[in-house]
Amino acid sequence: MALLVQKYGGSSVGNLDRIHHVAGKIIQAKQQGHDVVVVVSAMYGETDRLIQLAHALTHQPDPREFDMLISTGEQVSMSLLAMALNAKQCPARSFTGPQLGIHTDSTHTKARILEVKTDIIQRELNHGRVVIVAGFQGRNEHGDITTLGRGGSDTTAVAIAAAIKAHECQIYTDVDGVYTTDPHLLPKARLLPQISFEEMLEMASLGAKVLQMRSVELASKHSMPIRVLSTFSEGQGTLVTFEDKIMDKRLVSGIAFSREEAIVSLSGIPRQIGIEGCILGKISQAHIEIDMIAQNTTAQNTIDFTFTVQRREYPKALKIVEELGKELGAISVKTNAKIAKLSLVGIGMRSHTGVATTMFQALGDAKIPIQMITTSEIKISVVVDETHLEQAVKAVHEAFELDKAHKPQLQIAIE
Ligand code: ADP
Ligand code: ASP
Ligand code: MG
Repeated sequence: MALLVQKYGGSSVGNLDRIHHVAGKIIQAKQQGHDVVVVVSAMYGETDRLIQLAHALTHQPDPREFDMLISTGEQVSMSLLAMALNAKQCPARSFTGPQLGIHTDSTHTKARILEVKTDIIQRELNHGRVVIVAGFQGRNEHGDITTLGRGGSDTTAVAIAAAIKAHECQIYTDVDGVYTTDPHLLPKARLLPQISFEEMLEMASLGAKVLQMRSVELASKHSMPIRVLSTFSEGQGTLVTFEDKIMDKRLVSGIAFSREEAIVSLSGIPRQIGIEGCILGKISQAHIEIDMIAQNTTAQNTIDFTFTVQRREYPKALKIVEELGKELGAISVKTNAKIAKLSLVGIGMRSHTGVATTMFQALGDAKIPIQMITTSEIKISVVVDETHLEQAVKAVHEAFELDKAHKPQLQIAIE
């Protein structure tokens, strides 16, 4: 008998048939003797619908009211699931995040969980009931509802699992687990039986939305194993765990990508010391986060300075840079919002060289121009034109033979 936290995502509770199906899975776990705490997302598309409603009304919704609105989707699915379970003679009760005692900081729309109270969960489990919790929400010190950022139900599940010391946090979704890349983009992608916290953290932060980044961070901090599984088919899914527990160690594990960035570049700025700090300072004063940065000096002794920002913040960044360009005497300001970032992730990169060469050669052979590059210990990211993304993922996936199950990849790249 185990204590399990199961989280069901939006598509898993997307309609009443699916809610019945999920109820059946929970009953199965109960019949196997497990205690189950369930976290649910809003029904598929509901959070997007609520966000659109708010934006149709006003360009800048009040953050408190915005969270009040977008947190409602989860309350619908949690109560429907509890009703479905009760109708099948399986006692269940649903709770909102604030009701349960999920305390967060006050950053509306991307709040962090500070504390999870466990007394209600314990009481309900002692009564033999399934506890169903609305994901994605909590309450701040003022008693207001907060939300945890898109995909935040994953983080609710991990935070509860850590607080009640569950055996495993199971994330049920619409794919069989974590793949070498998004299987909806590349059907040849391979299901990974295991992946390390570190790699999963990189994958999530670089665009693989199968797990919210903060959920992986939290799981690693509390040594809470996460298992990503399909709601709709049987299987072992993917276990996210510590590096030393990974059996099949590979040079690279996966490819993440994001279409959510835009490039801004200033060319021909007369050279002067401190110019970089001046440009970045203006951008960060406007609370715009910068991701990648590249700079080079031209033969004319001027500077070309390029960076990427979140696509939704790009009009704001462009306005600032246009003004700055005039002030600094830049020759031109260019932007491109139709780019994509592709990242290759693998802990094997720490100790093996040649990964970047193989990646760049693969992109070169596929005639895909690289616009920017950044690297860190376990990842290499490149920016390409958005129209090249699919082809680029395919080329890199093939170059590292990521579709093959037992390739001893650690040997091929030693130079
Ligand atoms: P849920 O609604 O269940 O939370 P999400 O849409 O947030 O589901 O996450 C699941 C989706 O993540 C998949 O349908 C898939 O398209 C996408 N995804 C991106 N990268 C990966 C990957 N490497 N492995 C599996 N799924 C991925
Ligand atoms: N419903 C929220 C969203 O769509 C939270 C989640 O699904 O995890 O982002
Ligand atoms: Mg999700």
